[in-house]
Amino acid sequence: MKVFQSLNCVVCKLPFARKANEARSPRPLDCGSAMCHECFEKERRLAKEKREHQCVRKQCFNNANFAFYLIDVLSQEDSLTLSPLGDGYLLVKKLTLKEENSKSISTFGEAKKTLEKCAKLREDFETISEKLMPHLRRYETKVKTLTERIDKDDYQGLKDGFEE
Ligand SMILES: [Zn+2]
Ligand SMILES: [Zn+2]
Repeated sequence: MKVFQSLNCVVCKLPFARKANEARSPRPLDCGSAMCHECFEKERRLAKEKREHQCVRKQCFNNANFAFYLIDVLSQEDSLTLSPLGDGYLLVKKLTLKEENSKSISTFGEAKKTLEKCAKLREDFETISEKLMPHLRRYETKVKTLTERIDKDDYQGLKDGFEE
């Protein structure tokens, strides 16, 4: 079985923690990559040239949150088990995508419609592979964008939120 490299920190290569607020909890970079909390904080403080994370982007360390899209995936302990060597996660059962993020949105009729468009995306998640990660990131960004727009009552923007 193959270890999911996307569930390891890109710097220290250790598997991410399944929860937030731990040294190994995943933090998202603006470029779409992720590293553990400890490496993130270490790298963030370094001058750009001294960083392990060399990137085309000017600044990847703006997000103060944990990477909840990864934590959601990792919290499915039945599906993802730590490899015997402890070098990463193995998929032993299909993952299901949680909808917690979207619950707050579904109270709005308009948003509900938009979310249905998301169903296709979710189907794609069922066929989990390394390819899943960019999809999940896109999904997370979209949910975030939607939530922000709902906060502003911007329903037109909401409609556009899920267009590819
Ligand atoms: Zn790390
Ligand atoms: Zn980057």
